[in-house]
Order: sequence, then C-alpha cells, then structure tokens
Amino acid sequence: MSQNIYDVTVIGGGPAGLFSAFYAGLREMKTKIIDGQEKLGGKVHLYPQKMIWDIGGTEPIAAGQLIEKSIAQGLTFEPDVVLNTIVTNIQKDNDDYFTITTSTGEEHYSKSVIITIGGGGMIKPVKLNIDNAHLFENKNLHYAVPDIERFIDKKILITGGSYSAVDWANDLSPIAREIHIIYRGDDLTAHEADVSRLKKNGVEIMTQSVVTGVSGGDRMELVEITNNQTGEASTHAYDELIVNHGYDQENLLFRENKLGLNLENDFFVKAAPTGITNVPGIFAAGDCIRYTGKVNLIAGAYADAVNAVNNAKTHIDPKADQFAMVSSHNQRFKSKNQKLMY
Ligand SMILES: Cc1cc2nc3c(=O)[nH]c(=O)nc-3n(C[C@H](O)[C@H](O)[C@H](O)COP(=O)(O)OP(=O)(O)OC[C@H]3O[C@@H](n4cnc5c(N)ncnc54)[C@H](O)[C@@H]3O)c2cc1C
Repeated sequence: MSQNIYDVTVIGGGPAGLFSAFYAGLREMKTKIIDGQEKLGGKVHLYPQKMIWDIGGTEPIAAGQLIEKSIAQGLTFEPDVVLNTIVTNIQKDNDDYFTITTSTGEEHYSKSVIITIGGGGMIKPVKLNIDNAHLFENKNLHYAVPDIERFIDKKILITGGSYSAVDWANDLSPIAREIHIIYRGDDLTAHEADVSRLKKNGVEIMTQSVVTGVSGGDRMELVEITNNQTGEASTHAYDELIVNHGYDQENLLFRENKLGLNLENDFFVKAAPTGITNVPGIFAAGDCIRYTGKVNLIAGAYADAVNAVNNAKTHIDPKADQFAMVSSHNQRFKSKNQKLMY
C-alpha cells in the first residue's frame, strides 16, 4: 500500500497542474497528475492556433507550441500521469493520506493534493445537435481550429455569433476562398468593431439561421441551413465547418464536497494567495482559486503553482525549507545541466 501513496497528487493537467508537477519534482516529491481529458494541456487546447503574448520571458508563442513545452517541462521529473479520469471526490479517512475517488472507479492515495481544475472544471464544446455530425468530427467539422493551413482557399461556414466565432471569421478571411457566418439570433454578439471588420473582410453574415443537417461521404460536403423565423431550409456546399457554440462546464469534484472546502459559486476554491485552503493538506492553484488580486492568466497560474507546492512540501515535511533554491543554483538539476551545458 505505502508505495501507492504519493507525496502530492495534482488534479488537473493544464498550465497550473503541469507547472505544479514540475515544481513538485524539483522539491523531490513523489508526484501524480490526474486529468479528465485524454491529453494534458488544459484549456489551452481550446485555442491551439492563437498566439500568446503575455506569459513573460518569451516572445509570442502559438498556444499549441506552449502546450508542448509545458508538457515537456511538467514531465521533467517523471510524475505518474493518469488521463481520461475525472476526480469526483477527495476524502480523508485516516490521518496519513487522502483518498481520491474517480469516474473510473479507481482510487488514488496522497499525503497532499493540489487542485488545479481550472475555472470551469471539465469544459467541453457544445456540439451540434444533429445525429450524424460526429461522423465528420476530426475531418472537416471542427469545434476548435486545429491548424490554419487546412483552411487555405477553402469555402468555410462558421456557426456562432460570439467573440470567438467572429474572431475566427476575421482571422481566416485573408486565406480562405469564401467565409459565411451564421447565427441563430438577430445580431452577432461580438464587439461592434470586430463585426464591422467582418463586413470589410467580405464575410457573408446570415442571422436567425441555424445548421439543421450535415451530409457527405467520407467527409462532410453539404450543410442544411434553416431560417428560424420562416422555417425555410436551404442546402449549401462547404469545404469546412467550424462550430463555435460555447462550452458546457461540469465540476464533479465539488458536487459533494465531502471535505467541506470553502467554495465560491460552487466552482472556485476560496484560498489564501499561498494556495492554502481551509482544509489542511489541500492546496489550490490556477484559474480555480479565488483570492484578492488573483490574476487569471497563465503567468498567474505559474506563481500559484510554486506557492501551492512549497506549502504542500512543508505540510508533509514540516522540517523542509519553505522555499526551494533557485533553479540556476539548485543541485536537483546538476546531472541535467551537465547534459545541457556540455
Ligand atoms: C480562448 C481563450 C484564450 C486565452 N488566452 C490567454 C492568453 O493569451 N494568455 C493567458 O495568459 N491566458 C489566456 N487564457 C487563459 C488561460 O488559458 C488560463 O488562465 C489557463 O489555462 C488556466 O490554467 P489552469 O491550469 O488553471 O486551468 P485549465 O487550463 O482550465 O486546466 C484545468 C484542467 O483540469 C482538468 N479537470 C477539470 N476538472 C477535473 C476533474 N474533476 N478531474 C480531473 N481533471 C479535471 C481539465 O480537464 C483541464 O485539463 C485564455 C483562455 C481562453 C479560454
């Protein structure tokens, strides 16, 4: 049993979770990451083609590239990684460790826990409510823009009226052959200036319209669009369909809240800026934490992670230093540095 008890288990493998795992390794803690998705990287997977400018210490970087680098860094000290597993509860049945229960029925055991589940818990894009739509997913029906090149010279339909849908229509307009955007309401809800840009970019806008059918062979070829005022349906050929209908959020972890964590709006952990919660041994970092001055940026997630790990470390070993030695002078990197430097 004792070999199954981790020093720290990080729940969530986004920027906060990956940096927590890295820093826990630096502090020589036996570490596990559990994430409900099939891959590490967190919410950043929602915008892999977007450029990120405000991380600090790096020039603009595509979000997809940042994911790759964050995963590589998070796995530096080889934490155990458990994917496709949603944490549903944390219990304290004895003095020594927490029992973490999951959607798969597996239990995990840990002396401390860092919660890094993001602002909305498990986030999934709202899918088209059309029976056969899944047949074209990962082909030419997209819920996130996977890569820009595939849209060169294509006729594209974007459905959704929000900031994100309009943003993509504008961003893709220089390379696409033709872009149509449809929205079920009267007016697109994005910023006025971005909607004006759509018109300048030659994007055709259809309001009060919804996608009611998709069809094709191996790939989607035709889209049925219905005007929700008149009920009139028409069918159009498109090369690519991008669906931007927002996200469903589900936070199973806090539903029962057996530990009695202090929460805000059932989604956020109320904690100190040090990551310390009202439950000894449970820490939080990243978008899921709430304290005065909290910065909901990737840069903020990194600082939260360092605090949470340092406090998890002294929780399980009160004699340990509160802070680790800076990485440039930290013996933990000695052999790795030798490989890098020479
Ligand atoms: C469109 C968009 C653009 C953005 N642009 C920027 C930007 O330019 N710069 C910037 O700094 N920030 C940006 N952000 C914000 C940034 O993405 C977040 O601040 C960051 O992802 C937060 O990291 P996190 O690790 O706290 O949470 P997340 O990235 O949300 O990761 C949480 C992880 O926890 C997992 N999880 C949730 N619940 C459970 C559970 N019960 N069990 C197991 N796993 C669970 C999820 O699957 C997910 O992988 C943007 C966000 C969006 C949506």
